[in-house]
Amino acid sequence: MKKIFLAGEWVLGQGKPTVSYFPADGTKNDEFSTASVEQVDEAVRKAHQAWQQPEWRFSLPSQRARVLWKVAELIEARVEELAALQTRDNGKPLSETRGLVMSAAQTARYMASVLDTLDEELTNQRASDTLTLSVYEPLGVVAAITPWNSPIASEMQKIAPALAGGNAIVLKPAELTSLVALRLAELFEEAGLPKGLLSILPGKGSVVGNALVQHHLVRKISFTGGTNTGKQLAHVAAERLISTSLELGGKSPTVVLEDADLELAVNGVIYGIFSSAGQACIAGSRLFVHQSRYDEFVARLVEKTNRLRVGHPEDPATQVGPLIDENHLRGVDAYVQQAKAEGGQVVTGGHRVTGNGLDQGSYYAPTVITGLSNSATVCQEEIFGPVLVVMPFESEQELVSVANQSVYGLAAGIWTENYRKAWQLARLLDVGTVWINTYKKFSISTPFGGFKQSGVGREKGRHSILSYMQQKSIYIGLDSTPNPWCEG
Ligand code: ADP
Repeated sequence: MKKIFLAGEWVLGQGKPTVSYFPADGTKNDEFSTASVEQVDEAVRKAHQAWQQPEWRFSLPSQRARVLWKVAELIEARVEELAALQTRDNGKPLSETRGLVMSAAQTARYMASVLDTLDEELTNQRASDTLTLSVYEPLGVVAAITPWNSPIASEMQKIAPALAGGNAIVLKPAELTSLVALRLAELFEEAGLPKGLLSILPGKGSVVGNALVQHHLVRKISFTGGTNTGKQLAHVAAERLISTSLELGGKSPTVVLEDADLELAVNGVIYGIFSSAGQACIAGSRLFVHQSRYDEFVARLVEKTNRLRVGHPEDPATQVGPLIDENHLRGVDAYVQQAKAEGGQVVTGGHRVTGNGLDQGSYYAPTVITGLSNSATVCQEEIFGPVLVVMPFESEQELVSVANQSVYGLAAGIWTENYRKAWQLARLLDVGTVWINTYKKFSISTPFGGFKQSGVGREKGRHSILSYMQQKSIYIGLDSTPNPWCEG
């Protein structure tokens, strides 16, 4: 039975044991224990103690950076091992999980570099005879909660800036994917992170996650996951007046303008929705194509979609792997049935994929639906699967208004040869990230986060470390004469 990482010790979790399965074929990866509510309390208390040690709280940035540099090196030396583990845990093709592992290493290294060059501020003197100085201080204990779709990358996007900021962090990975987070803990141990500053507590959101965010010593909730859970956590944070960072769902529009290079656009659209089998918050799941190119575009799209190789995630030829589990497949299929009931035409896909050794996994065919308007359920709700809805548009004005008709505002894609138009459109779309003639590209130095119900706060970028810190302003009196106010 695999142990959990509680404040620097490997111990058996006192919660219900659980099993990790390989989504490709349902074989067992590992059995592991989950944390109990009492262990959550212990982890947070020990995190609080560890954070308060002057050796950490007032450590030099370069000391904290050293741990992150070392972790980056340890990850890079194990790309294949970690990618294989990530693939076993969530079923993403190896080609994708290698990218996630590299991104985790880059995040650790980037945060280390930023930390070492992050200067505090000497504020200008506005009052006479005082000098004011603003310093950034850590918040204390951070509660991090992550989903199953890109664990190693999203976990490092929380752990690295939180530790860089001088905090302690207690992380609850998703129920279905805890293996990589536990392996990451071993690497942090090897890198010399002092005990207590990191805990990995697998378990259910409603038990472990809930106990963690409710803990009175937690000073920030850093969450990636569904919008409904995000709202619940925002309530908890409001009640306790602690800060949050919420990376939530999306229903991202992609727009193909009249002058777009269709060859580029078709590939970009297909990658944007069908990579990761659509299990990405940024999946480009609503596609708007200019009326004059619509028929041609849909024909090319369907033709190329039909050629995608759905297969075992360890097969290097695979482009689309399995969905995370059977339950999720049923949910995706229910959305497709709903689309049909609302008058949509499934022009390709719309069924599970079996045969060729895929019978034991939850494989779903890349699916394209036409004939619906933006108010259809599948255009309004996040499916988190390989399902694309295509709609024609005539004027760009109408397009902006329809594309923005969504509770979400995570990302958008624009395909056009006219960059002036692309810029104007990009500014009008209510989303946190716009990709022009590309999609799903990421840079660790570029902030990421959602508008509207897609989230609050930004991850990545220089300032993400500051989101795990708070400013303290210190006034230093320079006047040597006693305050005259007191002199009768
Ligand atoms: P997804 O649909 O991606 O699984 P969820 O929001 O359900 O999104 O889950 C994301 C993470 O949030 C998981 O780690 C899950 O265990 C956790 N979680 C779910 N419900 C709660 C809750 N009430 N309190 C804290 N964490 C939760």
